[in-house]
Amino acid sequence: MLLGGGYVTLHAYAALARRMRGDLRRGRLEVVVVSADAAHSFHGFTGEVASGQLPFERTRTPLTEVCPRAWVVHARVTGVDTTGRTVTYRLPGGAERTLSYTHLVLGTGGAEPTAQVPGLAEHGCTLRGTGDIKALVQRVRAALAAPDDGLGSRSVVVAGGGMAGVELAAALADLGRDRLSVTLVHRGPTLLPALRAEHPRLAERADAELERLGVRVRLGTGLAGVTPGGARLSDGSWLAARTVLGTVGQRPVQIPGLCRGLRDERGRLVTAPDLSVAPGVWAAGDAARVLHAATGHPVPANALWAIKGGAHVGANIARVLDDRPPRPFRYRGLGQVASFGLGRSVGEIYGVELTGVPAWLVRLAFFLRFMPSRRNAAAVVSDLTRLVVQGGARPVPVDSGVRASSRLAA
Ligand SMILES: Cc1cc2nc3c(=O)[nH]c(=O)nc-3n(C[C@H](O)[C@H](O)[C@H](O)COP(=O)(O)OP(=O)(O)OC[C@H]3O[C@@H](n4cnc5c(N)ncnc54)[C@H](O)[C@@H]3O)c2cc1C
Repeated sequence: MLLGGGYVTLHAYAALARRMRGDLRRGRLEVVVVSADAAHSFHGFTGEVASGQLPFERTRTPLTEVCPRAWVVHARVTGVDTTGRTVTYRLPGGAERTLSYTHLVLGTGGAEPTAQVPGLAEHGCTLRGTGDIKALVQRVRAALAAPDDGLGSRSVVVAGGGMAGVELAAALADLGRDRLSVTLVHRGPTLLPALRAEHPRLAERADAELERLGVRVRLGTGLAGVTPGGARLSDGSWLAARTVLGTVGQRPVQIPGLCRGLRDERGRLVTAPDLSVAPGVWAAGDAARVLHAATGHPVPANALWAIKGGAHVGANIARVLDDRPPRPFRYRGLGQVASFGLGRSVGEIYGVELTGVPAWLVRLAFFLRFMPSRRNAAAVVSDLTRLVVQGGARPVPVDSGVRASSRLAA
């Protein structure tokens, strides 16, 4: 049984289905996917969706399409019993069901710790929950359509200076040139601390891109609270903004029954080198603490590690079902890239630093390769090609039905 509909589940399913095609076809192996979201969300292009370069639908793929031989159950898991080997879940109508499993894969990912910021869940925007990205896009479109009331109707605050916060601040500033004021708030002394530690030149380039896009950066202060009218910061100041986006870290989703003894102090499921957590239980991605084979440090919570971890879990389950021992996870990593608009990225691949168009193309190629739907990948190529041909002009659907136009910097 695979829990969640993210990268871990998709790649565990694909690895399992590839190795056990005959058993799946003949019904000797049954795969059940239980996910709170009936579609997979491809987060990589969130910036492009927020900036109006790509429609939201391009990032969504129904799980029934990508796990064609699995039973897909659209439900929220409410408990796991690792002794009795059962999973309990709640269907959208409220009914609870329990199913037993032989092998369980935990790919339930993470979520923003909204409880730590008063008002964020009620009045702000987040990115990890079902429907979050669409809600953000709709709110920003509404802000663009609204008259400037001087009370924050055209102001956006993005909290969190990691990759997601920086990319989203850039994307929103890019979309709303001269019409939206975007402030990026970060608790630490510098943005992109993980990138800056190893590639300071790239982090400085990212700072310059934010400046070019007109993003105001407030360092050394965090998001302390959100109200319908704005953001309260930890230094006591107040920013009037009708749109407040919190990308303030993420915590693994907690499933009752998997708490005691199986998790570390940050709530991540502690995995052995073969990515098992307990007998018949496996984990990867944002929900798990996976140690890097060379450094021994936890690997970052990003899509690449979720993809590779998920695939490894699927392959190991196939081995165990075939009475062979599971293998340790030995993947070493690839790099990281952030985007700042059409043809503008900064990143590092296998330690090689890239900027501008080459970085943008590498990022695009990587994302297209890992998009679960070939149909969506082809549509992305067509959308972006049209944008490039048109010199960056793109339609921005606004809630009122009015079609405005935005132009990207060359
Ligand atoms: C906006 C944004 C942009 C990002 N950009 C990048 C990027 O450019 N590059 C990169 O490498 N990484 C990026 N990431 C990080 C990357 O998306 C995550 O690391 C990755 O999604 C982790 O995969 P996962 O399978 O562990 O979890 P997810 O992909 O988050 O999937 C978790 C799944 O579990 C489901 N679920 C949760 N709780 C339950 C429950 N109780 N019951 C049933 N189902 C449940 C969810 O609905 C979801 O389907 C980004 C993340 C965000 C939010």
